[in-house]
Amino acid sequence: MECDEPDVDVAIVGGGISGVYSGWRLLGGPLPAASLPASWAEGRCDRKLKVALFEGSDRIGGRLLSARSPHLPETTAEIGGMRYVAPAQRLVTGLIEKALNLSWHDQAVDVPGNIAFLRGRLLRTSDLGRPAALPYALDASEQAWLAARGGQSPAALIGRALQQLMPGIAEHLAGSTLREYLATVAIDRATGVPDLWHHGLWNLLAKMMSPDGYAGARATIGYDCLGGNYNALDLTAEYFNFTPEVSYRMVDAGYESVPWSLRTAFEAAGGETVLDHWLTGFERAAFADGSTGVRLVFRNGRTRLARALLLAMPRRSLELLRPEGPVLADPAFRRDLLSVSAVPLFKLFLLYRECWWQEAGVSKGRSLTDMPLRQCYYWLNGSDGRTVPHPNDPALVMAYDDLLNVTFWSGLDTRRHTAETGAVRPLFVGVPATAEVPDDPFGKRLRQNWEAHSATRTMVAEMHRQLKMMHGVDQAPEPVDAAYMDWSRDPYGGGVHFWNPNYESARLVRRMTQPVDDFPCYLCGEAYSTNQTWVEGALQTAEIVLQDRLGLHRAEWQDG
Ligand SMILES: Cc1cc2nc3c(=O)[nH]c(=O)nc-3n(C[C@H](O)[C@H](O)[C@H](O)COP(=O)(O)OP(=O)(O)OC[C@H]3O[C@@H](n4cnc5c(N)ncnc54)[C@H](O)[C@@H]3O)c2cc1C
Repeated sequence: MECDEPDVDVAIVGGGISGVYSGWRLLGGPLPAASLPASWAEGRCDRKLKVALFEGSDRIGGRLLSARSPHLPETTAEIGGMRYVAPAQRLVTGLIEKALNLSWHDQAVDVPGNIAFLRGRLLRTSDLGRPAALPYALDASEQAWLAARGGQSPAALIGRALQQLMPGIAEHLAGSTLREYLATVAIDRATGVPDLWHHGLWNLLAKMMSPDGYAGARATIGYDCLGGNYNALDLTAEYFNFTPEVSYRMVDAGYESVPWSLRTAFEAAGGETVLDHWLTGFERAAFADGSTGVRLVFRNGRTRLARALLLAMPRRSLELLRPEGPVLADPAFRRDLLSVSAVPLFKLFLLYRECWWQEAGVSKGRSLTDMPLRQCYYWLNGSDGRTVPHPNDPALVMAYDDLLNVTFWSGLDTRRHTAETGAVRPLFVGVPATAEVPDDPFGKRLRQNWEAHSATRTMVAEMHRQLKMMHGVDQAPEPVDAAYMDWSRDPYGGGVHFWNPNYESARLVRRMTQPVDDFPCYLCGEAYSTNQTWVEGALQTAEIVLQDRLGLHRAEWQDG
C-alpha cells in the first residue's frame, strides 16, 4: 500500500460559521495533553497544530451574509441569519458577547400597531386578539380562549394545542428542561405511538385545531415551516423560540462580522484559509506512521492529505459530493443523511429614498401578510443598526418568507445562476451609486455581497406591489436598489433544516458527528443539530466534535 505524509492535521471543509469556529477553537489555546490533536502536533518543535480551512466560494460566512447597498452605505442588511436569542443560546451569546466582545443591540419584532394584512383585510396587530376582527372561522373554544387572552395573536393557538396535548409542558418552558420533557412525554397512547419524535407536528395539530385556527396560526406566526410536518419534538422546541416572550439580539456590525472576526483570529494563530476550493470527494489515505488519514480531492484537480477531515456543511452540500469512499458510500450514512429536510428561505431587501410606510403608522419591527412576501421588517438605519429613520430618509424594508412562497419569487428570476454560490448576474439597475467603494476590507466585502445578490426588475416590481397593498396605499415611490437570496439554491438546498418524523434527533446528533467509527471524518453544522435553524446549532455540533471526538476542553467563556 502506498504511504504518504499528511500536509495538514485537520482539514476543515466549509467556511460557514461552524467551520471557521472549529478552526479558531482548534488553534485558540493549549491543546489538552491527552487529546488527539496534541498527539498530532507532538513531534514538531513549535508543537503547533496545522489546520486548513477550505471553502468553495470566494467568502467565509456561508449562511451568515451581511451586505450594504452603495445607496445606504452605513446600514447593514442581513440577507442570511440575523439574530440570536440571549441568554438562552449560551454558545453564541458567549462567543459574541464574551469571547469576541462584539457590540450588539436588541431587535424589535412584534410591535403593537404594526400591520397584519390577512385574506385581503388590513388589520393591526392589536386586532389579532379579537376573534370578531379576524378573517378566520375559529371554533367556539378557540374564540373564547383568544378573547380571554386579549392581545395574543392566533399564532398562540399552536401553543394552546401543544399544552392540551402535553399538559406538563408549561412548567418546562421557562427553564432549560424543555427538550428533556419532550423526549419523555407520552402522547397519543391510543394509537400506540406515544413518543413525540415519531410524529409530524402538523399531523398532531390537525387533530387539536380547527382548519381555520390552524390557517390563522400559521399565517400570523410568520413562518409557514413552524406549522409544518417536521418532527414534532424538535418543532415544538423551535415553536417556543418564536413566542412574544423571547427577546432577540443583533450584532451591530452585521452577523457576518462574527465569522469575519473568527477568520482573522484563526489566521493570526497560524491557520490557513483556502477559498475557491470546492471539495468533490475524499478517500482513505495510509500514512507512513501506520495511521489512517484522508485524501481530499477538489474540483480544480488539487488534492490535500489530512490526518482528519471536518465536514462543516449542510445536507445538500454533502449530497453534492461524489458518493464514494468510506463515509459517502456507506449505506447507513446515506440513510441518515435523509433524517433532516432543508427548508427553503428567501429574503429580499428593497431600498427606498423615503420611508413611505411610516404614513401607515409603522416604523420598526415587522408586519405580516399571507401574501408571498409574508414578513415585512422595517429595517433600522446607521452603522449600529439602531436608528429609526426619519420619514424623509432613505431606508430598507426586508421581505422574509419560506417554503412554497420561495417558489413564487424564484419564478420571477429567470436569469441563469451559478450552482455553487447562488449568485445572480446583476440585471437590476438602480440609480448610480452614491458612495465610494469602502477602503476597509470588511466594508468592501459587504458591498460585494450586496452586488452579488442583485434582484430582477420583475421581482422588485411584484414585491413593491405587495408592499403597497399590505400597507393600504395606491401610490408609493419606486424602490431604488434591491438585493436578495433564495437559500434553496445549491450548495445549501435550504436556509435551515428540520428533523423529519420518526428520527430521534438526540441520538442521531451524536452519530452524525462521526458517521463511521474508526475513520477520522467528522461532521458539524446547523443541519444535524438539536438547535436547528440557529447558529447555536452550528456551534453545538462543532463543540461535540471538538470536545467529545477530539478531546478539547470547554472554553471559559462558555460558562454561564
Ligand atoms: C435566511 C436565513 C435566516 C436565518 N436566520 C437566522 C437567525 O436569525 N439566527 C440564527 O442563529 N440563524 C439563522 N439562520 C441559520 C444560520 O444562518 C445557520 O444556522 C448557520 O449560518 C449555518 O452555519 P453552518 O456552518 O452550519 O453552514 P453554512 O453556513 O451553510 O456553511 C457551509 C459552507 O460550506 C461551503 N461548502 C459547501 N459545499 C462545499 C464543498 N463541496 N467544498 C467547499 N465548500 C463547500 C458553503 O459554500 C458554505 O460556505 C438563518 C439562515 C438563513 C438562510
